[in-house]
Amino acid sequence: MKYLDEFSDPVLARRLLDQIHAVTTRPWAMMEVCGGQTHSIIRHGIDQLLPEGIELIHGPGCPVCVTPLEMIDRALAIASRPGVIFCSFGDMLRVPGSGRDLFTVKSQGADVRVVYSPLDALEIAKAHPDREVVFFGIGFETTAPANAMTVHQARRLGVRNFSLLVSHVLVPPAIAAIMESPSCRVQAFLAAGHVCSVMGTDQYPALAEKYQVPIVVTGFEPLDILEGIRQTVVLLEAGRAEVGNAYPRAVPDSGNLPARAMLEDVFEVADRTWRGIGTIPASGWRLSSRYREFDAEERFAVGDLRTDESPLCRAGEVLQGHIKPHECAAFGKECTPRNPLGATMVSSEGACAAYYAYRRLELVSL
Ligand code: SF4
Repeated sequence: MKYLDEFSDPVLARRLLDQIHAVTTRPWAMMEVCGGQTHSIIRHGIDQLLPEGIELIHGPGCPVCVTPLEMIDRALAIASRPGVIFCSFGDMLRVPGSGRDLFTVKSQGADVRVVYSPLDALEIAKAHPDREVVFFGIGFETTAPANAMTVHQARRLGVRNFSLLVSHVLVPPAIAAIMESPSCRVQAFLAAGHVCSVMGTDQYPALAEKYQVPIVVTGFEPLDILEGIRQTVVLLEAGRAEVGNAYPRAVPDSGNLPARAMLEDVFEVADRTWRGIGTIPASGWRLSSRYREFDAEERFAVGDLRTDESPLCRAGEVLQGHIKPHECAAFGKECTPRNPLGATMVSSEGACAAYYAYRRLELVSL
């Protein structure tokens, strides 16, 4: 497939691997921030081809995984209200809340609809002015611009029966939180290429400088990841805490300026709870005061819901890179994709699901 196959070319991959082996003189631990990168690494066995001392620590960049349980319960509470049409991307429908998931409330009669864009939800709201239409807006900086644009359009067009349940989180504060952890072993980051395609790279030099870690913007295909690792090892070996860009075909330094302007208009930075990690100050977005009337949490008064995670689940440690998924005692036993205990097993981008899908036999038998 054009634009994909050439980034999986085995000859070029071998060449990059040879270069990585040639520049590596000692062990290094680097974190790939995004769950999409984790899946690519595990699926293609990239971690098994690296020099022995190079460890890839799987980071928290899986949007479904870090959406807090109470936010799922808020979605369930809103979706269950009479007169509500609750719209979401499909991957959120299987994520269990404290008791049920959105599929279950749909089967019980709630009007839950899968859409491919938040703008589809806005169209539904225009078509049903007598109903409340809510879109579940989760994820990192990548998905936020479309949600911001939709709320902007709702206000511009006066579609007052539309609202957004917001659970947006930001990568740079998560990197800072990981580096502040006393048990942090991360010496460098492969930053998430799609996040940087929106936000650019200008937030990263200060982080690299403060924590003395190289940060290399990295894509998702095998050659993208190998080039990101190669650049990272070069910086680590040279003792340079700098920012690199191994994904220039998608990431200009300034990012997507119209998208950033839209984000700045619609959202404001706020504290956010990350599932399995806890509250990280100034680590997410909420609707700014100009758009607050479109906030579903306020409209439906569900902000006070609180929940407890399964005591067996160690997803927080997985998301911070403290353990690998198979080191959780429930992995492949009490917890499987058919019966997930934590979001890192539910989401197709979750590290536990990646290990289960691609390494199940070899790891469960350990
Ligand atoms: S294997 Fe399951 S229970 Fe264990 S950390 Fe992953 S999601 Fe949680």
